[in-house]
Amino acid sequence: MKILLVGGGGREHALAWKIAQSSLVEQLWAAPGNPGIARHARCLDIAVDDADGLAGFAKGHDADLVVVGPEQPLVAGLADRLRAKGLAVFGPSQRAAAIEGSKAYAKRLMAEHGVPTARFATFDDAAAARRYCRERGVPCVVKADGLAAGKGAIVCATLDEADAAIAQCLERREFGTAGTRVVVEEFMQGEEVSLFVLAGAGGVFPLAAAQDHKTVFDGDRGPNTGGMGAYSPVPSFDEAMQARVMREIVEPTLAGLAADGAPFTGVLYVGLMLTLTGPRVVEFNCRFGDPECQPIMMGMSEDLVPLLLAVARGDRLPAPRSASGGRAAVCVAIASGGYPGRYPTGLEITGIAEAESRPGVQVFQAGTVRREGRLYTNGGRVLGVTAVADDLAAAIAAAYEGVRAIHFEGMHYRTDIGRRALEVRAT
Ligand code: AMP
Repeated sequence: MKILLVGGGGREHALAWKIAQSSLVEQLWAAPGNPGIARHARCLDIAVDDADGLAGFAKGHDADLVVVGPEQPLVAGLADRLRAKGLAVFGPSQRAAAIEGSKAYAKRLMAEHGVPTARFATFDDAAAARRYCRERGVPCVVKADGLAAGKGAIVCATLDEADAAIAQCLERREFGTAGTRVVVEEFMQGEEVSLFVLAGAGGVFPLAAAQDHKTVFDGDRGPNTGGMGAYSPVPSFDEAMQARVMREIVEPTLAGLAADGAPFTGVLYVGLMLTLTGPRVVEFNCRFGDPECQPIMMGMSEDLVPLLLAVARGDRLPAPRSASGGRAAVCVAIASGGYPGRYPTGLEITGIAEAESRPGVQVFQAGTVRREGRLYTNGGRVLGVTAVADDLAAAIAAAYEGVRAIHFEGMHYRTDIGRRALEVRAT
């Protein structure tokens, strides 16, 4: 089989690593890829938003499957453009991707289909949004409607903070067009877990649950980032909870999308808050999480390719396996000093081979560039050191051993990835 993978981050490196292991694959291309992906695929100089270039290449080279990693091209309609050429695509249509691309759409869909989520209202007028905050009280969460790279949700403890967040979106337009509408919602308390579900015309297949660590510093302190680490599976998310989420959340959501004429084809990221009254949706995404994809790929024992292909072609998906199946895996992100604020680039990275010489460790590259045989930093989140082991404690230990083998100037990582899951388990 010939597969084209679209994207060039840590998520796509993990996908490329996993796809390349399949005996079904004879050729893997990545557009644009990165130096890590180049170890498993031929990288192409085609950007993720170049729909004509991607469709032309895939068609011209008889690709059997196109796998789209990031959300922006999906929300912009890349999967539709590829399907129009007769290609098999793993990734939702533009209309189905609106479940991530418009929070207002996602909230309306949930309201219409009885999917449990925070109470909310949508506004494009700042005064009306402020009135609603006063009626409902704080804490509340103000969210930019559109794509904001994971940074468009502002948790507000006071009315002053809510007023400022509304001003930031609707008056100062700090999120650009993504923030011309806001969703104001009730603050939910509980443990946050994400469930990843493959979904297509041939049914659903819950892949795994994961937990990520959004803030930059240990103890969940500091500003939000794209994600500083993740682990999978989540010990507290058991078989019964997975079945409940599938029944109460995933099935009605997918049915709702289909009823809107937008059936989902790809991986649905179900961001959940496990509240005292049950699981409720924080957000949906229309693709794998980054960095959650890294531990999920490493913990997965079966071949990913037949599953991706079945989703893309609408073939029947296999029966779900147990929620606690798969080995434990942990990803620790190594970021540039200063991230998520300003940070330098172009610093030499050493120690990847040494890190990967440890059992069960893979270093997925996110923000790197290769020049004359040497590797340099080229982004905020640079590497995702990921380890798989028989249990979470061993996976954490192995991941940090890998991290300690790596060096670049000013590198920063959290030292507590996965630790809370061990504490929850011990109590
Ligand atoms: P989102 O962009 O919607 O995923 O939100 C980003 C983060 O903000 C989530 O991962 C949560 O930690 C937090 N968050 C969002 N909505 C809520 C909510 N209604 N209640 C509590 N926390 C929330």
